[in-house]
Amino acid sequence: MTKEQKTKYVFVVGGVMSGVGKGVAAASIGKILQSRGFNVTSVKIDPYVNIDAGTMNPIEHGEVFVLNDGTECDQDLGNYERFLNKDLSRVNYMTTGSVYLSVIERERSLKYQGKCVEVVPHIPIEVIDRINLAVKKDNADIITIEVGGTVGEYQNILFLEAIRMLKLKKPKSVVLVLVSYLPIQGKGGELKTKPTQYAVRTLNSTGLQPDIIIARSAVDIDDKRRDKIATNCGVEKKDIISAPDVDNIYKIPLNFERDKISGRILEKFSIKPQKKDMKDFRRFISSVNKIEKEMRIGIVGKYFGTGNFMLSDSYISVIEAIKHSAYALKRKPIIEWVDAENFKNLGRFDGIIVPGGFGGRGIDGKIRAINYVRKHNIPFIGLCYGMQLAVVEFARSVARLDNANSTEIDKTTPHPVINILPSQKEKIENSNYGGTMRLGAYPAVLKKGTVAQRAYGTTHISERHRHRYEVNPEYIECLEANGMIFSGMSPDKRLMEIMELPVKTHPFFIGTQFHPEFKSRPQKAHPIFLKFMEASLINKKRVTN
Ligand code: GLN
Repeated sequence: MTKEQKTKYVFVVGGVMSGVGKGVAAASIGKILQSRGFNVTSVKIDPYVNIDAGTMNPIEHGEVFVLNDGTECDQDLGNYERFLNKDLSRVNYMTTGSVYLSVIERERSLKYQGKCVEVVPHIPIEVIDRINLAVKKDNADIITIEVGGTVGEYQNILFLEAIRMLKLKKPKSVVLVLVSYLPIQGKGGELKTKPTQYAVRTLNSTGLQPDIIIARSAVDIDDKRRDKIATNCGVEKKDIISAPDVDNIYKIPLNFERDKISGRILEKFSIKPQKKDMKDFRRFISSVNKIEKEMRIGIVGKYFGTGNFMLSDSYISVIEAIKHSAYALKRKPIIEWVDAENFKNLGRFDGIIVPGGFGGRGIDGKIRAINYVRKHNIPFIGLCYGMQLAVVEFARSVARLDNANSTEIDKTTPHPVINILPSQKEKIENSNYGGTMRLGAYPAVLKKGTVAQRAYGTTHISERHRHRYEVNPEYIECLEANGMIFSGMSPDKRLMEIMELPVKTHPFFIGTQFHPEFKSRPQKAHPIFLKFMEASLINKKRVTN
C-alpha cells in the first residue's frame, strides 16, 4: 500500500457557533495521536475568498500567523505548530480563494483537457488533492483537517462535500469530529443539547454523520445530556467527549483523553492503539497547575476593540509566547491590555511589550509608552512595528533628530529613520498588496556579547518576518554613536534585525524586526521572551521591595 492509501483523515467541523475552540480541539487531537507514536500533520481550511490571511484586518480575523515559508495564514496554524511542536508550510493551509484560483489556473492551461469544469466535483477534488499533498510532504500517518466556519453556512459546503467524497472512497480511513457548543440557560441552568441536535441534522443533510461529538461547554457534560445527544444524534455515548472551559488551553489534550478520544478514533480506523506517551506533557501541565506566583505584563496595542467587546485574538502568539516563558520561570502571567490611544500608569507592570502593527493610529501613544519604559528601566520588547517605534523614539529623544519618524506614518519627515524598502515601494504603488511583504524565515547574524546573542546562545539564527519597512541604513551610524546597538543583522549587514540598549543603561530593552512569538513553543520558550521575563522578574522584585 502507498502512504496515501494507508493515511487516516480526521476532519474537524464546528456546530452551533464559531469561536468555541475548534482549532485548539483539532490541535489537541493531533497532539494526542502524536503521543501514540504516529506522525501527525494538520491542515486548516478557511472558507474565505481571500487567497490567504495576509490582507485581513486582525480585528476581523484575529492574528495573521506566518510560517517559515512566508505563508500568511490563520492563527490556528499557530496552535497546530505549538501543540505538535513542528513547523508547517504552505501545504497546511487553504482558503476557498486559493482553491478556486488553482482550479481556474488549471482550466486556463487546458489541464482539464476540454472538460466542463464544475463546482462539484472539481472544487472538492482539488481540496482532497491538497490534503493529500500535505500528507505526502509531511509524511503523515494521520492528518487532522479543520474546516473553518460552522455547519449550516453556505461558505463551507464544498469542503463538507470533499469530506463526503473522501469518505465514500475510503470509508475506513475518515473520521468526522463535530465540535459543538452546548449553551447553559440562565444562572445555574442546565446544558442544552437542542442546538447540537440541529447541527447534526444539518450535517446529515450534507450526507455526513459525525463519528465523534466534542461537547464544548462551560462545564463537563453529564450522563443525562450524553444520553440525549447519543439518542438524538445517532452517536454512541462513548463517542461524546466532554470539553469544559479551561483556564489553560494546554490542558485540553488531557481533558479529551479522560474520555479516551484517541482510543475511540483509532478503533474507528481499526488501528491497534500504540502505547501512549504523554508523561512529559502531563508533567508540564502539572507543574503549570502548581504555579502560584504571578507577574504582570502589559501589551500596548490597538487591535483590541470590536464594538463593545475586547479581542485578544489579534495578538494570540504574543500571549502564548509570554505564557511559555512565564511557565518556564514558574510564574503565572497576568497580561493586561494597554490601549495605545488612552493609558496611564505603566509603572505597575513588571515588563511591557509593544507588538507589531500597521498604519498611524495609536502611534503617539506607543512612542510615549516606549519613552516611559526606556526612562524608567522597565523591561521591554518591541516586536516589528514595536522595534521600529523604539528606533523612532530613541532617534527623537536621545539622538536629537527632531520629528524623526517612519515614512509609514509621515512621508515628509526630515529624518526617515524607518523607511520602506525600494522593492516594497514599487509594490505598494502598483497596489500589489497580497503576499508581497518581506515574509517568512530569514537568517540573521548576531553580534557576540550582546544581550540578544547571549539569549540565543548562538550567533546564527533564523526568524519569521512580516513587514515592508526597515531601519534606514543612513541613520545607523548616528544611532550607534548615540548608544543604540544593532545586535542582529542580515548576513549582508544591510538589514537591521535586532536593536538593543546596553545593559549598563537599561536592564532589558530589545526590539526585533522579526516576530519571535511565532516560534515559541509551550515546552520550549523563545529565548528573547525568556530573557525578557527574567528581567521582568528582577524588575518585579525591585518594584515590590
Ligand atoms: N508596519 C510595519 C512594516 O510594515 C511593521 C509591520 C509589523 O509590525 N508586522 O514594516
